Amino acid sequence: MVEVFMRVVGHKNQIFKLLELLQGQIFPSAILFAGPAGVGKKLIASKIAKHIMCEKTDIICETCKSCILFEANNSPDLFSIDGANVLVEEVRETINKLLLKSFLNTAKILIIDNADQLNAQSYNALLKTVEEPRENTYIFLITSNYSKLPQTLISRCQLWNFNALSNDEVESVLKDSKFNEISAEDKKILVEFSCGSLENVNYLREYLDQVVEVRSIFHSVCNGDISKALGYIEKLKKDKEKVKIHLGILKLLARNELSEQKSTLLKRKIAIFIENISVAEALIFERNLNTGYVLQSIFFKLANAQNQPKSLADDFEQLIDGIVV
Ligand SMILES: [Zn+2]
Repeated sequence: MVEVFMRVVGHKNQIFKLLELLQGQIFPSAILFAGPAGVGKKLIASKIAKHIMCEKTDIICETCKSCILFEANNSPDLFSIDGANVLVEEVRETINKLLLKSFLNTAKILIIDNADQLNAQSYNALLKTVEEPRENTYIFLITSNYSKLPQTLISRCQLWNFNALSNDEVESVLKDSKFNEISAEDKKILVEFSCGSLENVNYLREYLDQVVEVRSIFHSVCNGDISKALGYIEKLKKDKEKVKIHLGILKLLARNELSEQKSTLLKRKIAIFIENISVAEALIFERNLNTGYVLQSIFFKLANAQNQPKSLADDFEQLIDGIVV
């Protein structure tokens, strides 16, 4: 395996097979990387792109013009789009450039991150290019929401699935010197609640002190005790920015708990709680509903062990018409 890929954490099976396709010169012109956010899909796409564009065929030489420009983030043959933040005009313009001859005489590559967030017009623009592949032109689509992509596009790409990283793999990333200032105990928390995503690690890292508090409240509520949560909501509701952060932390904690929980009822309650957090975010930040009231509602629903839990959306059906739950 090319040495540079050995440094990528996880996904060795996928990397090995992707390199086989490259070596066999049967690399697909449109490829879709699907899997959880923050597990390294974009990094792998970028390294494969560098490999394809390198003037040497069997290694990444790091010395050819293509490799040097690639590292300087200045390759004239490489294009990147973030589906979450792009206009259809930019997509069309990029595709037009992609279809021109390679400046460095190697290959032209387009990497689209958050591909599921493109709009319908952008998909149409892209579809035509994917349907009529050009020689030495490659498109990488990256998504953590595979089901949101149009089937017409999926069917024209070669699909590759990526899994969440294992706890051991996340732990190995945290051994890097850039995480030196994090204590061993905090690293354990990060690994435990990362859900195998480095994006989650980076998010939680900023709020480590708050994770412990939120975790303790979440567990009390899961056990049917709402008293701690009420005091917590009272303090939290005054600071909307903090509410946003805490809802993000709660979502990660709940996802982690869901994967470990064995009781079917609690699993269902937590799954609905996760849904309710998204509804709560919409109600608080888009509909401007009373923060304290919305937070209390989601915690009460989680705490209520006797009844079958129901989604917050049921209560707010009229108000949240149009919000996906
Ligand atoms: Zn090179």
